[in-house]
Amino acid sequence: MSLESCVTTEKKPLLSVEEAQQRIHAAIVPLTESETVPLKQAFGRVLLHTVFATIDLPTARNSAMDGYAFSSRNISTSSPFELTNVGTSWAGKPFERDLKTGECVRIFTGAVLPENADSVVMQEFVSVNGTQIQFPADVKLQKNVREIGEDVRIGDVLCLAHKALSAVDLGLFAAVGVERVAIIRPLKIIYFSTGDELTSLSEPLTRGKIYDSNRYSLHGLLSNPCYQVVDGGSIADDKNELRRVLRQAAGEFDVIITTGGASVGDADFVKEILDECGDVNFWKIAMKPGKPLAFGKIENCYFFGLPGNPVAVTTTFDVIVKSALAQLGGAMVKKSWQFDAICTTPLKKSRGRQEYQRGFLQQTQNGAFQVASTGNQGSHILSTASTANCYIVLPSECSGVKMGEIVTVVLI
Ligand code: AMP
Ligand code: MG
Repeated sequence: MSLESCVTTEKKPLLSVEEAQQRIHAAIVPLTESETVPLKQAFGRVLLHTVFATIDLPTARNSAMDGYAFSSRNISTSSPFELTNVGTSWAGKPFERDLKTGECVRIFTGAVLPENADSVVMQEFVSVNGTQIQFPADVKLQKNVREIGEDVRIGDVLCLAHKALSAVDLGLFAAVGVERVAIIRPLKIIYFSTGDELTSLSEPLTRGKIYDSNRYSLHGLLSNPCYQVVDGGSIADDKNELRRVLRQAAGEFDVIITTGGASVGDADFVKEILDECGDVNFWKIAMKPGKPLAFGKIENCYFFGLPGNPVAVTTTFDVIVKSALAQLGGAMVKKSWQFDAICTTPLKKSRGRQEYQRGFLQQTQNGAFQVASTGNQGSHILSTASTANCYIVLPSECSGVKMGEIVTVVLI
């Protein structure tokens, strides 16, 4: 850890965001258990093994256009020429014999070319007079033909192991006839909120109570085909209850996520219970929002104790938890894209923690990226997180940004 990255007003230096990410990365052992599913069910899931092509694509030479196919042998394009149409090659119903000199066939997109044909001229370029097809001078020969294997050759890699399969990947697999795919089994995740003040949406709010919003944000953040997610509900600020619930969940899930109770208040028991029932890897990081963040294990179950404040939950999820879950689920972990942008609003910041401020990124007409703060950056202010489309990442040593300065942004 660099000295700069752990500057803090607290007695014990806090972990930098980067160091927290590295510690999680080092602690996680990715799942290897797999299941084999029909192709459609593999959408968004993580591929177990590299998949190779077992056929060429295209499997046969075929036409890229609706037009006329012929052999370019003995044809000169220095003047107009005429060929006799001797039949049709349809997509799925090829014309089955070789062409003789002076012959052509009507052909449609995707239809297989006669063995000795090598040229297709678009129908828009010819004039048709019964079976006689007139081609103008200077038409291009040996064009509009899709060659065998020009997309994929037998033995080529279709997708590397650990890729999360996209819509295009499903199409690619289907194109070579892959019916079933081996994928990593889903990650079993349970999340809880904690706090005596939390009220369910179906109940009236009484004085001092608030609606439990974190479980709804987490529901959205965890909506992913790779996760089997259970909403564990809300736990009261009660040590015994917390201990009982977390112990039981640890026996059934790969990951527990809690929100709230991770700080140092008299009703904050998460860290204490995690210490008692498992191993705490770290508990606080030099990040804002999101200082109280506990990571550890209870038996074989990974544990993320997120802060209670709603925006601290979504931000720590985006910055810390998301890539950890991807790694645990066996996926290749992608680094988020970072952009330089001109900041069009001044930003307040004190030194000591890396801040993720909510911003709105736009591209100007000349292509430059501009970002503006979406407003109040309090970690309880959900509305400015709702209007944001990026985080403005301010390093711990930064002590504020003036209008017009360049900042780093990460898309949400
Ligand atoms: P805590 O970390 O438990 O002290 O919570 C910090 C702040 O987040 C407090 O203002 C809590 O009321 C609030 N908070 C905790 N959990 C939730 C939740 N599930 N939904 C909305 N706000 C919450
Ligand atoms: Mg609380």
